[in-house]
Amino acid sequence: MNAHPSKVAKDLSAPNDLEAWWLPFTANRAFKQKPRMVARAKGMYYYTPDGREVIDGAAGLWCCNAGHNRDEITAAIQAQAAELDYSPAFQFGHAGGFALASRIAQLAPGDLDHVFFCNSGSEAVDTALKIALAYWNVQGQGSRTRLIGRERGYHGVGFGGISVGGIVKNRQFFGTLLAGVDHLPHTYNRAEQAFSRGEPEWGAHLADELERIVALHDASTIAAVIVEPMAGSTGVLPPPKGYLQRLRQICDKYGILLIFDEVISGFGRLGTTFAAERYGVVPDMITFAKGVNSGTVPMGGVLVRKSIHDAFMKGPDHVIELFHGYTYSGHPLACAAGLAAQDIYRDEKLFERAKTLEPVWADAIHGLKGLPNVLDIRTIGLVGAIDLASRPDAVGARAYEAMDRGFQEEGLMIRVTGDTIALSPPLIVTEDQIGEIADKLARIIRKVA
Ligand code: PMP
Repeated sequence: MNAHPSKVAKDLSAPNDLEAWWLPFTANRAFKQKPRMVARAKGMYYYTPDGREVIDGAAGLWCCNAGHNRDEITAAIQAQAAELDYSPAFQFGHAGGFALASRIAQLAPGDLDHVFFCNSGSEAVDTALKIALAYWNVQGQGSRTRLIGRERGYHGVGFGGISVGGIVKNRQFFGTLLAGVDHLPHTYNRAEQAFSRGEPEWGAHLADELERIVALHDASTIAAVIVEPMAGSTGVLPPPKGYLQRLRQICDKYGILLIFDEVISGFGRLGTTFAAERYGVVPDMITFAKGVNSGTVPMGGVLVRKSIHDAFMKGPDHVIELFHGYTYSGHPLACAAGLAAQDIYRDEKLFERAKTLEPVWADAIHGLKGLPNVLDIRTIGLVGAIDLASRPDAVGARAYEAMDRGFQEEGLMIRVTGDTIALSPPLIVTEDQIGEIADKLARIIRKVA
C-alpha cells in the first residue's frame, strides 16, 4: 500500500509538508507560514535550501563551539558508526566512553574527577539533582532533601530542571513540580548594572539570601544549590563580581552541595574550559552538554567530585551503586564526536581564543548602544545580550521580528528570549565576522524600530 502523499518527504531540502513536526520552543503557526529552514552548514555559516548564506550568531543553540561540519568530527563519527554503532553502558563499556570521561576529568578543576554520561542538558541536571539526593542518603543524612535553585534560572525541561529553574513560563503550565524547592533571587538589576561588560560590580550580596533560606529550613534539610554561573537562556545574566565565591563559602559553611550548571558555559564559552575556572570556584558537581562534542550528537554529562563518587563505592562489589542511567548514556557516536571536538578545542586553542576575543566582541556588541529601543547590553566571554523595549501591545514581538528579519533578510541567525536577543557565536569566529554580526544587528534593530 502506498503511503499517503503528505507523509512522504521526497525532497529533504524543501519538504512540502511541514505539518507533522511540532517544533520545540517554537511559535509553530508563524513558523509554518514563513519557515526558517536550513539545509547545510560549514564553519561559521548555515545555508538555506535555496543556497543563501546565514552567519551563525548563536552557535546553533549555544553548542557548535568548534563551528559547523568539522571534517575531523564527521570522520570520527563515520569511523565509529562503522566500527561499533551502539553499546549498552549498563554493565558493559567501550574504550571511547572511558577515553572521553578521563579527558573531561583532566580538564575539570579541583577533584571533579568522575563523569556520568547522559544525552542532554536536561538529563544532566536531573542526574546531578538525583546524585545529590542519593549522596546524602548513602551518607546517612537522608533528611537533606531540599533543593535550591534561582529565579530566572534555566536548567532544562525535565521535572527536576523546571522545579529548580525560575523561568515562569517553563513552570506555570506543568502542575505542582517537585516539592521542597526554594529559589535564590536572580542577580539582574538594570538600574545598577546597565551596559555592563563582564561581571557587574553590583550584586554579590544576593548570595547571602542562602543564609535566609538556611535560617528558615535548617541546613540539615538542604541537599544542594544549583545555579548557572552565567544565566544564559533567561537572557544572559553574568554573575556579579564575587557572587559565586560567596555562594561557595556559604555552601561550605553549612555542608550544602554546590552544582554549577555549565551546559552553556562549559567548553570555552567564557574563555576557560569551565566557568568554574574563570571564577576560581570548585563546585561539587558540574553539568555539561552542548559544547562537549560541538553539538554534533546528543550528549550531556555530570562531573562529580571524588568524595561524592567514592561515597557510593561501598557494600558488596556486585551490587549496582547508583540506580540511574539512560539507554544511550555514553553512546559510542557521541563519545567519538566528543574526543574529536576536544582535539579541535585543544589544537586550535579555542578556549584561549574566546578569552582573547572577549574585548573585541564586547566593543562590537556594546557599539550598538544608542540604537532605537535598546535598553541594555550585556557581554561576557563570547556571549552577548541586547534587551529591546517591549512593544506595549505584544511582549516578545520585537525580538521575534528581529530574529525573523535577521534570518530572512540579513542572513544572521540569532536566538531570542522574551524581548532579549542572545548571541553566542562559534568560538572560531574571526574579528571580521564579529564586525559582520554587529553590522547586521544594527540594520536589523533599526528595521524593527
Ligand atoms: N541547563 C542549561 C544551563 C541550559 O542552558 C540548557 C539548554 N539551553 C539546559 C540545561 C538543557 O539542555 P538540553 O536542551 O540539552 O536539555
